[in-house]
Amino acid sequence: MTSPLQQAPTVGTAMDTTAEQFDVIIIGAGVTGLYALHRLRERGFSVRIFESGDGVGGTWYWNRYPGARFDSESYTYGYSFSQELLQEWEWQEHYAGQPETERYLNYVADKFDLRRDISLRSHVHSVVFDESANAWQVFLADGRQARARFVITAVGSLSAYYIPDFEGLDSFQGTWCHTGRWPAAGMDLAGKRVGVIGTGATGVQLITAIAPEVGHLTVFQRTANYCAPLRNGPIDPETQRQIKASYPEIFQKCSETAGSFIHQFDPRSAMSVSPEERLEQYERLWTEPGFKKWLSNFYDVMLPGEANEDYAAFVRQKIRERVKDPVIAEKLVPKDHMFGSKRLPCESGYYEVFNQDNVELVDVREAPIERITPTGVKTKAAEYALDVIIFATGYDAVTGPLNRIEIRGEGGQTLKDKFAEGPRTYMGIQSVGFPNLFTINAASVGNFVRAAEPLVDWVCECIGYVRAHQMTRIAPAPEAEAAWTQHVAEAGAKILRTQANSWFVGANIPGKARFLLTSPDSAPVMRAKRAEVAAKGYAGFILQ
Ligand SMILES: Cc1cc2nc3c(=O)[nH]c(=O)nc-3n(C[C@H](O)[C@H](O)[C@H](O)COP(=O)(O)OP(=O)(O)OC[C@H]3O[C@@H](n4cnc5c(N)ncnc54)[C@H](O)[C@@H]3O)c2cc1C
Repeated sequence: MTSPLQQAPTVGTAMDTTAEQFDVIIIGAGVTGLYALHRLRERGFSVRIFESGDGVGGTWYWNRYPGARFDSESYTYGYSFSQELLQEWEWQEHYAGQPETERYLNYVADKFDLRRDISLRSHVHSVVFDESANAWQVFLADGRQARARFVITAVGSLSAYYIPDFEGLDSFQGTWCHTGRWPAAGMDLAGKRVGVIGTGATGVQLITAIAPEVGHLTVFQRTANYCAPLRNGPIDPETQRQIKASYPEIFQKCSETAGSFIHQFDPRSAMSVSPEERLEQYERLWTEPGFKKWLSNFYDVMLPGEANEDYAAFVRQKIRERVKDPVIAEKLVPKDHMFGSKRLPCESGYYEVFNQDNVELVDVREAPIERITPTGVKTKAAEYALDVIIFATGYDAVTGPLNRIEIRGEGGQTLKDKFAEGPRTYMGIQSVGFPNLFTINAASVGNFVRAAEPLVDWVCECIGYVRAHQMTRIAPAPEAEAAWTQHVAEAGAKILRTQANSWFVGANIPGKARFLLTSPDSAPVMRAKRAEVAAKGYAGFILQ
């Protein structure tokens, strides 16, 4: 068996108070960590990023699998804070692939001279609160230590890759890999018998990209998803010019939508127009790129009910039309969850892959995987001989990367224990018992950078406020945390995202408590709530 996955060594937690000191330690050098570093340095803080990987970029460093790309429009995803950067950088495609986004984030790191404050190959093993000093001690897996008053966990919401606990994986004699740890040197798939486990957004991208190259492809599907055509393309010079000239409007539009995407819902109800008009809109949006067919649709398509089911039926029909074998088509048609209750995978030829003679679809809900064997995968019904197994099995989302760090707060309690029944936070930002720790990987969703920039700005402002008022600690008031946690549970229960068995509610991880892992509020509402809290001198927080 060969695999590029690494295990972190274990370390002790005896504090060395002479360890290198910083004002702020950031864990993670993805888009969030890089931006936080830049902003905090501007304010004169000493900052250090510790990053497990060999390079910057986070998601866009690790996810090198073939086909990895945005479903956000590239130019809506990039940072907005620097006019110079906006004018210099030229996105090549409407939906950039991983290499382009990784290049972009490296360009940012160089342009703003971020690397001097980033320690790569620095896996944070544990973070322990020193109550006597109101400071955090950070322990790296290689034995190094550092201290800081504040810690920001910019560890990502989708960075803790997850592989189901299949019996026999160690015995597999071929090669295997998780998509989130795709080797930089690539994997040799040409002519091989390849099995892909998982058909979420990543599986859909990967399967489409490797299908022309492999000898035989076996796709193990548990859940059929609603997928829609991405309709990607290069950005021509005239469009490039228009994009550069209209960044303020682009970002303004994004700031007004629930998920910070550029698409605005049609304020009409699908059911208020005639069936012909409804269908005409569905068909027209279907020819448009990206999430438009999802997020520019009649507003009630995104609410549980008749409109949602009407659109789901339309999408199911679109799938059926593309798959030649009606039996296979039916397996690819989602029937167990509502349209939009999971993030919509965008594709570029996914369904046609299943018309290839060398591609086989295995329904593991019908016949579950029993074990991995030395030569492949055995389900309840059959054995599949494979040279390569690729796990497109997703992530232990949001709390996963936090739980993989031993975070010990006041009284030695761990964040993992505290979050055992779901995150208990105030606005996703802080948790009682963990002063000066900003868990911002849990607080940003949608078109990520649009939501992350204002959140990071808020945290930097907050840290600046604590310092300016000569205080040394900030933590939520217990009643503020309780009220927020209740709000997440109650408001969360009403939104589409909690209706499916998805990572949004931890349903993809056996034993994980079912709880909405992100905010139930729209991005504008979250920004307004945070602004109000700050304007009231950080209402709901205890500052000392
Ligand atoms: C395949 C894929 C496609 C996506 N496409 C989109 C998209 O089109 N649009 C969109 O808005 N979002 C998309 N996302 C979500 C994406 O995760 C965010 O857009 C964004 O990249 C998150 O940035 P981040 O900096 O918060 O976290 P990440 O990019 O996940 O970075 C976190 C970093 O923290 C590091 N880290 C974690 N734990 C430790 C530790 N203990 N010690 C040291 N370092 C640690 C990790 O190595 C990682 O580099 C996608 C996600 C995936 C997985």
